[in-house]
Amino acid sequence: MIAENLKLVEENIQSACKKAGRNRSDVTLIAVSKTKPVSDLMEAYNAGIRVFGENKVQELTDKIEKMPKDIHWHMIGHLQRNKVKYIVGKVDLIHSVDNEELAEEINKRAEKAGVIQDILLEVNIADEDTKFGLNKDKVKDFYVNISKLPYVNIRGLMCIAPYVDNPELNRHHFVNLRKIFVDIMNIMVDNSRVDVMSMGMTGDYQVAIEEGATMVRVGTGIFGAREYNTA
Ligand SMILES: *Cc1c(COP(=O)(O)O)cnc(C)c1O
Repeated sequence: MIAENLKLVEENIQSACKKAGRNRSDVTLIAVSKTKPVSDLMEAYNAGIRVFGENKVQELTDKIEKMPKDIHWHMIGHLQRNKVKYIVGKVDLIHSVDNEELAEEINKRAEKAGVIQDILLEVNIADEDTKFGLNKDKVKDFYVNISKLPYVNIRGLMCIAPYVDNPELNRHHFVNLRKIFVDIMNIMVDNSRVDVMSMGMTGDYQVAIEEGATMVRVGTGIFGAREYNTA
């Protein structure tokens, strides 16, 4: 089931790349495994997946311990400052930085751990009250301020587009994220490497790739629907 799903996702990614005239190697598929058991992650692993995304610190650190060591882990969910210490240095990329206190805490913990932590700035691209992320107008100033922190490296931007039935409805949001991305490249501070746009989920990753996504975060499309324990 998971292997078949992955095959379909891979085909979709390849056709979106082709349509956009992009190389498949320019897009990283992140398998979003939140709420799923380690046995499911192992199925994806055995089908070749080495990049996983989780949105809760406890679940992420548990799975890091239980899974093979050659996996690249991504923290894609909202992150509280007091939990930063558990993941800095253990994840390749933190996708969800949207306030200075959080960035400063990551900087502090990364210094202690002797690493430079890669991060993305999360943008609230559709100005939704229910979502985290920086206001579109604040991203540039925020970038300039956070760039001064020596132990964090801002690799780019992330957004969570609205839930829609027709992915075309999100195309303009992806175009807008790319515009902000280009703005940031133009003010890029020395030595920084800004090359990541994390956008597109199960419902809209093909459109996101057509508009320049370099990372897509696909959960349901790989692992099936999530069951949240409401007990
Ligand atoms: C859950 C989640 C995803 C994956 O969502 P699907 O619609 O299941 O593909 C992607 N990004 C973030 C930040 C998530 O929390």
